[in-house]
Amino acid sequence: MTLDTIKARAAQAARQAGRNPGDVTLIAVSKVQPLDRIRSVLTEGQRIFGENKVQEAQGKWPGFRETFGAVDLHLIGPLQTNKARSAMELFNTIHTVDRPKLVNTLIRLAQDIGSCPQLFIQINTGAEPQKAGVLPQDADSLIRAAQDGDLPVVGLMCIPPADFDPAPHFDMLRQIAHRNGLSGLSMGMSGDFETAIAHGATHIRVGSAIFGDRVPA
Ligand SMILES: *Cc1c(COP(=O)(O)O)cnc(C)c1O
Repeated sequence: MTLDTIKARAAQAARQAGRNPGDVTLIAVSKVQPLDRIRSVLTEGQRIFGENKVQEAQGKWPGFRETFGAVDLHLIGPLQTNKARSAMELFNTIHTVDRPKLVNTLIRLAQDIGSCPQLFIQINTGAEPQKAGVLPQDADSLIRAAQDGDLPVVGLMCIPPADFDPAPHFDMLRQIAHRNGLSGLSMGMSGDFETAIAHGATHIRVGSAIFGDRVPA
C-alpha cells in the first residue's frame, strides 16, 4: 500500500467519526525497513517517522535530516535509562515513558539539557506481564510524578493485546487521558488504525501498511 492510500483511509475514518482529519497525525514507522524504502516515503513528502530503537535511529536519521531537512522523529520502543540522553537529543517525541525510574532520569536530564521532547506515558491496558507500560491502576500517579517534575506530558500511548478486539483498550486509554486532562492519544497500527481513529486517536503509528512487510532481522 502507498502512503497516499493510508492517508486517505485515515482521513476517511476521521470524517466518519465526525472528526477533523487534520487532528490525526500519521507516524510512519520505519524500524527495520531498508533505507531505499524510507527514502521513497521521504520523497513522497512524509516528514513524521517512528523508530523503536535508539541506536538504529541514530544510524540513519542524522543523514536523512541532512538530505531532506527537518524530520519529526518519534521513539515508540522501550527506552533504557542509559540511552535516555541520546534519545532526548535525537527524538522530538517519546511515546514509551512507563516507569518511575525513567521519569526521574528524564526530569534530571531535562534540567541538565534545558529542553525535553514531548512525552507520552505508555499504559499496559491489557496488564500483560511481558509487555511494557505502566499498569492502568498506577497510571495517574506516574503521570503526576512526570508533571510535578515539569516534564512535557502530552498524552498516553498503548499497544493492545494481539488477537483481541482493541476497541476496549482504546476506550480505556481515552478514559485515563481524560481524567488526567491529557489530549494526546497514541494508538492504532497497520491493522487497527481506523478503529483507533474512531475511538479518538490523535497519533497513529503505521509501519507495514506503508512500507510493506518488515524484512526479518
Ligand atoms: C512496529 C510498531 C508499530 C507499527 O506496526 P505495524 O503493524 O507495522 O503498523 C506501531 N507501534 C509500535 C509500538 C511498534 O513497535
